[in-house]
Amino acid sequence: MQRNLILILAAALALLAACAGSRSPAEHNRAADSAWQLSEEEWRVRLSAEEFRVLREEGTERSFTSPLNANKREGVYACAGCGQDLFSSGDKFDSGTGWPSFIRPAADEAVAERVDRRFGMKRTEVHCRRCGGHLGHVFADGPPPTGLRYCINGVALSFEEEGSRTEITE
Ligand SMILES: [Zn+2]
Repeated sequence: MQRNLILILAAALALLAACAGSRSPAEHNRAADSAWQLSEEEWRVRLSAEEFRVLREEGTERSFTSPLNANKREGVYACAGCGQDLFSSGDKFDSGTGWPSFIRPAADEAVAERVDRRFGMKRTEVHCRRCGGHLGHVFADGPPPTGLRYCINGVALSFEEEGSRTEITE
């Protein structure tokens, strides 16, 4: 009798796992810009394995692993997927979490948000509006004036130091 109960529970758990697995991140990471609606194969060619895991499969890098976490130089943080400007160094702060953190995006239209209910938590996921790439999450425990904390995977970002775009080398 007990054995049957265990088998039923195991079957129920397997069904739950199957349902959770059927959710495709690709459906949520649709690019607003049709030019950036690339296939999985095209993204694999463009991105490193770790960039692909985070941007296209909604992975999370290990905390304190990104060199951008402690980066204090002035410049722009662009999307590692499509190059769109996402965050500015002036909005970056040290959250102590081990992930690059910002109080706001460089422009409201640069990112899009949606509710993420994975892992038994209700969080707000942030992605690049142009290419749909997953960036991280936004939480309401940030410093003033916004009170927001955009907790972003460093691997999803490409830092461009101020002046480097128009720099003239002698
Ligand atoms: Zn992008």
